[in-house]
Amino acid sequence: MASSLSERLSRLAKELRGQARITEGNVQDMLREVRMALLEADVALPVVRDFIARVKEKALGQEVLGSLSPGQALIGIVNRELAATMGEGVSDINLHAQPPAVILMAGLQGSGKTTTTAKLAKHLIEKRKKKVLTVSGDVYRPAAIEQLKTVTAQAGAEWFPSTPDQKPLDIARAALDHARRQYFDVLLVDTAGRLAIDEALMREIRELHAALKPVETLFVVDAMQGQDAVNTAKAFKEALPLTGIVLTKMDGDSRGGAALSVRQITGAPIKFAGVSEKLDGLEVFDAERHAGRILG
Ligand code: GDP
Repeated sequence: MASSLSERLSRLAKELRGQARITEGNVQDMLREVRMALLEADVALPVVRDFIARVKEKALGQEVLGSLSPGQALIGIVNRELAATMGEGVSDINLHAQPPAVILMAGLQGSGKTTTTAKLAKHLIEKRKKKVLTVSGDVYRPAAIEQLKTVTAQAGAEWFPSTPDQKPLDIARAALDHARRQYFDVLLVDTAGRLAIDEALMREIRELHAALKPVETLFVVDAMQGQDAVNTAKAFKEALPLTGIVLTKMDGDSRGGAALSVRQITGAPIKFAGVSEKLDGLEVFDAERHAGRILG
């Protein structure tokens, strides 16, 4: 395991002790360590570059050059910049809508969308005392519809049937109508994913968004995707007004750099982290705690 960023910066700072003054070159050395730490955490390269440029601008002000403890001063700047990028604190699901509040789930196939839909249903039932309906618009994979049915039952929510011969838009409208009539508080709409971004998929989910007017449009992304998370996030952000992100598979051994990448690219808050395959494996995302994990 590589040593943590603060250890590395402290080591550099120690070498500098006794020097009359800190130079721009010394700051560059420290920034190189920050860059390495971010890349090791799998933050995407363009995001790392932007981040380092912002930190550099601040570091070359008097804050670091004039400091008695430049390593600590730089760590301070890096931490503040990370917090500013990641957003501070936690943000739960927004349900401020005429019931049923519709939550649209977007993301690639395999990202954990269906599992997360059930996890969210469970969260909303247990923590927010809501009556929750789920529906799947994934008419391309009958197994996905069945999967949602199974996990919805495990979550203690209700499931609205759909079949592969229906159009996603018709399914969504029927589910919304049912949710209204039966006084559901929340309708969770699981959508079809693809293995990679494609235009037909984006068109379909845009149509669903226009018809359903969701109060939350959540982008579900696999934290283990690392560098690729950026391209996926870009495509979904261009297609949809995302209101939040769910980062899944955070129990994997990634340092979670995808969080920083996706947050910077979409500007949307990370609302939840998936931390296991089980339905109780969903945590409200804590940006500050996560910033520490990225830096190691
Ligand atoms: P979908 O294709 O986007 O609907 O993805 P699924 O919900 O079917 O999930 C794909 C795989 O990832 C399944 O094997 C899930 O059990 C697994 N999975 C989903 N979320 C998590 C998570 O937070 N942690 C772990 N370890 N596995 C997850």
